[in-house]
Amino acid sequence: MSNQPILQVNHLSKNFDGNGVLKDVTFSLNEGEVIVVVGPSGCGKSTLLRCVNGLERPDSGEILLDGARIDDAADLVRVRRQVGMVFQSYDLFPHMDVLANLTLGPVKALKRPRAEVEAEAERALARVDLADKLHALPRQLSGGQKQRVALVRAMLMRPRLLLLDEITAALDPEMVREVLNVVLDLARDGMTMLIVTHEMRFAEAVADRVLFLEGGSVLESAPPKAFFHHPQTDRARRFLDTFEFDAVKQRVE
Ligand code: ADP
Ligand code: MG
Repeated sequence: MSNQPILQVNHLSKNFDGNGVLKDVTFSLNEGEVIVVVGPSGCGKSTLLRCVNGLERPDSGEILLDGARIDDAADLVRVRRQVGMVFQSYDLFPHMDVLANLTLGPVKALKRPRAEVEAEAERALARVDLADKLHALPRQLSGGQKQRVALVRAMLMRPRLLLLDEITAALDPEMVREVLNVVLDLARDGMTMLIVTHEMRFAEAVADRVLFLEGGSVLESAPPKAFFHHPQTDRARRFLDTFEFDAVKQRVE
């Protein structure tokens, strides 16, 4: 393992229509680490992930992936190859069964042998308890099952870095856990991840570091225990108080 971070974000700023949506955001993510980004709606979390994935261009600052700056269109090919992303909405192809959804990227983009990819996809599905859904269509799956398939699909591309943007936000509560357990397993296996979530217990369990974003700025950057139990800013305290978060409640009482 090299000492070089997989991801470095340096003084990143991004404006939409003259409004600063990201302001001088700086952090780095080492191999095998998980950073969770939390903050109120509209604070710039999705924009940050979209910049890292090359979907948005920064106005200033720089993003380095494995030490190489993401700059132009040529770099974006590399970014797409190295960075996996799963969103809140399931973006599986509706007319293709689970196996076809899983094998498309590795076979077409990575040019890997179909038989090998299919065997790997079957094993990966079994690990997320979906062995019997190989030939199901997305509409035959629950939201939680679709998100587990989406995670498997992202992992089959063997990304260096996985970005997760509120992947359980549209799920019924009982499905949230089954999806987050898969993410916890990925973290345990050493996957490097940048995660946006409103599931605070999960965030505390999975994070090596928490970034609290407010109005596009990083207000706090701390280990999860410190952030959730001893937030340094009033803004973070108020944010945490809006969640059913026992530890915070106890502290306030
Ligand atoms: P979050 O994910 O934290 O809720 P976003 O990154 O989606 O926040 O949005 C941050 C701010 O940027 C919001 O005020 C949003 O309205 C604005 N924004 C996001 N994308 C665009 C866009 N493509 N054009 C204009 N404004 C945008
Ligand atoms: Mg968002």
